[in-house]
Amino acid sequence: TRDSVKTFLRRNTFVIFTVAAVALGVVLGFALRPCNLSSREVKYFSFPGELLMRMLQMLVLPLIVSSLVTGISSLDSKASGKMGIRAIVYYMVTTFIAVFIGIVMVIIIRPGKGSRDSPVASSGSIEPVQAADAFLDLIRWAESFYKTLYKKIVLTKNVTIMVNATDNFNSTDLIQVSNLSTILQTIQETVEEVVPVSGSSNGVNALGLVVFSMCFGLVIGNMKQQGQALRDFFDCLNEAIMRLVAIIIWYAPVGILFLIAGKIVEMKDLAQVGGQLGMYTVSVIVGLLIHGLFVLPLLFFVVTKKNPFTFIAGLLQALITALGTSSSSATLPITFRCLEENNHVDKRVTRFVLPVGATINMDGTALYEAVAAIFIAQVNDMDLNFGQILTISITATAASIGAAGIPQAGLVTMVIVLTSVGLPTEDITLIIAVDWFLDRLRTTTNVLGDSFGAGIVEHLSRQELQNQDVEISNSVIEE
Ligand code: ASP
Repeated sequence: TRDSVKTFLRRNTFVIFTVAAVALGVVLGFALRPCNLSSREVKYFSFPGELLMRMLQMLVLPLIVSSLVTGISSLDSKASGKMGIRAIVYYMVTTFIAVFIGIVMVIIIRPGKGSRDSPVASSGSIEPVQAADAFLDLIRWAESFYKTLYKKIVLTKNVTIMVNATDNFNSTDLIQVSNLSTILQTIQETVEEVVPVSGSSNGVNALGLVVFSMCFGLVIGNMKQQGQALRDFFDCLNEAIMRLVAIIIWYAPVGILFLIAGKIVEMKDLAQVGGQLGMYTVSVIVGLLIHGLFVLPLLFFVVTKKNPFTFIAGLLQALITALGTSSSSATLPITFRCLEENNHVDKRVTRFVLPVGATINMDGTALYEAVAAIFIAQVNDMDLNFGQILTISITATAASIGAAGIPQAGLVTMVIVLTSVGLPTEDITLIIAVDWFLDRLRTTTNVLGDSFGAGIVEHLSRQELQNQDVEISNSVIEE
């Protein structure tokens, strides 16, 4: 047994360090609170954490490009098409379930009830929005949404026609993928244009990168022998990035410790978060827990017949990094590593599915958006009818797709959800106080959703993967 303890410790060193870092960070944070550090001092203090953030962010761009390009170019186009469709269906289904859970939670718990004389309601000056007004707002919103969408689609069509006309690599697959990706991108841009808000203004335009890399991967995948040099190049680049990740992982616990401690030092007094805001926080947390620890594992089990909690255990480090950084794209390098090294998910799947998932699949964010919007409606004494709740569920999904994987992006895209049912956007201020905390939890849920997605897509695509293996070994034999 001593040996088994030893092997356990050796195998799980990183995880143990990371968990210890979280605990130490919390303790250190609370211990330093009485010192009333100035915001400048907090910045200095959090520096080791900031360093981790930057190191991870530095890797994201080359990682997305190299993994998608190698992932797609190593699959034949039929296999990647099927895999892509499975991933999109998974994203859609789980995001809708998340929104549904959020709506049920906030309706049952009713965190915003009895608002008039509560401290949270903003001065009580907001008139309850009439149902008719809300409806008109929705129509106006929908009108401008579709107008912009239409303009974009016309534009996209022209571009596609141009591509077709000059198409000399004779690949219909490319057009298909680029159509799908442009539709996604169009939705994101439209959302950002209609609501003058940009979710992805910070950092890299991940969606653009994803689209480009997919097209590029497809093209060089079809280039046979001629494309070999490029395929090798991206494969090698990907390998190099993953080696950098392996180094950074040693530093991760230190960074996480300071990220968490720094946040605890600077957070507002918890006593203020009583009453409605407290109940709102509880609604989001319970919703996230149900989704992350019950719904997703169940789905994973039903599809793959594997133990979902062993799968989660393998992901622990990525989940804690998400908790520490509140950014699913910064966590991406670690997610890759956990899935490939600990959970042994096929690299052809992770490389293809994870970068897309980290960009558009955000269950936690979608759930949070729905809860927050309905909470704000409750605070404003606005009774939502079925149509409005439906509108919220659709826009919450759109807002989660549009949100970039960076800290508090979801708070920004909330505007879409609020305007769609005529709720006052300035009421976002009501929930800002707890957002840093909820952001961490929803980011963790987002990462969990992406990871289960990779596991499920791998299982469903095992036939294609096997065929590919056979093909590869045949071609080796031929040579
Ligand atoms: N921070 C989240 C993420 O990176 C996005 C959000 O704000 O909801 O996944």
